[in-house]
Amino acid sequence: MTSEPTVTRFAPSPTGYLHLGHVRSALEGWRAARCAGGRFLLRLEDIDQTRCRDEYAAAILDDLAWLGLSWDGPVRKQSEHFDDYRNALDRLEAMGVLYPCFCTRREIQEEIARAGGAPHAPSELPYPGTCRGLGSRQRAEKQRSGIDYALRLDLARALALTGPLDWVEEEGEGPCGKLADPTSLGDVVLARKDVPTSYHLAVTVDDAIQGVTLVTRGADLATATHVHRVLQALLDLPTPRYRHHALMTDADGRRLSKRDRALTIRSMRESGISPAEIIARAALAGEGAAPSGTEIRANLNRGGGEDRLRHPGIPGRPGREVHAAGRNRGSRG
Ligand SMILES: [Zn+2]
Repeated sequence: MTSEPTVTRFAPSPTGYLHLGHVRSALEGWRAARCAGGRFLLRLEDIDQTRCRDEYAAAILDDLAWLGLSWDGPVRKQSEHFDDYRNALDRLEAMGVLYPCFCTRREIQEEIARAGGAPHAPSELPYPGTCRGLGSRQRAEKQRSGIDYALRLDLARALALTGPLDWVEEEGEGPCGKLADPTSLGDVVLARKDVPTSYHLAVTVDDAIQGVTLVTRGADLATATHVHRVLQALLDLPTPRYRHHALMTDADGRRLSKRDRALTIRSMRESGISPAEIIARAALAGEGAAPSGTEIRANLNRGGGEDRLRHPGIPGRPGREVHAAGRNRGSRG
C-alpha cells in the first residue's frame, strides 16, 4: 500500500526503573519495526525535571540493551528540545487557540462540584472552562501579578479550525478508521508558566520530528490520541498510525506500576532471570495471557542468583549503576 518505512518508538519517563509492563510496550514497537525492516527509536520523556533522574535514564538504556531491544540512532531527550515545543506553542498562540488558566487544582475541583459533577473523581473530568472567558485585561493583570498559570487548549476554537478528524488504528483484525472525539479530555494543559510544554504537546511534536509512522503504546493513552490528532491538524504535522495495546496486570488484576519493585527488570536481573525469559513473559502477555504477580514473584525467589549481574558480558552496562541501584533500593515507595 505504502512504501514508507515503518518507524516506531519507545518513550519511557526516567522516573523509576523499567518494569515488565514497559518491556511489553517496548517489545510491541521493537517487533513492529524489526518485522518491517524499519527503525525503532528511543525517546526519554523527561520534561518533568523534578521527578526524572539521570540514573534512571541510564538504567533504562542499560536494561533495554541487556534485553536485546536495540534501538536505532541517538536517544532523544525531551529536556534538550524545549525550543521545538516553544515554536509549536507560539504557532498555537498565534492561531488564538490557547488561553491562560490561573485555577489551582482545588478551585477546579470546587467548580466541578458546583456544576454538579461527580465529587469522587474530579481528576477524571475535563477542566470546566473557568478561565476561558476571562477578558484580556483580567488576563494581563493576573499574569503581571506573577501567579502561576497554565496554558490550555481552547478545544472548541481548535475544532472549529480543524473540522472532523480521524486516524488509522491497527487492531487485531487489521487497520481501522477512528474518528477523533477529544471532548472527554476538554481543554488540556499544553504548557505552564515556566515550562513551554506538557506531555500532550511534546509527544505530538516529537513523533513528527522523529518521523514516527506507527505509535505503539498502552491502552491507557488511547484517550490522549484524540487530542494529539487535533494538535497534529493545527500544527500541520503528519498523522502516524496507532496501535494501543492491552496493559499488563498482575494476578489481582492490578496494573503493573513502578511502585511494585519486585517486578522491575532490575530486580529480575538481580534474581537471575534471563533476558529471554523476561521477553517471553512480556510477549505472552500480548497474547492475553498475562503472567500472574504470584508466578513472577515465585520465579524471583527461585532465581536467587544475586551476583549474576556482576558477570561480564552484559552489553553497555556502566559500572556506576551497581552503586546507583544499591543506593536507590527501597527509597521509592
Ligand atoms: Zn482556570
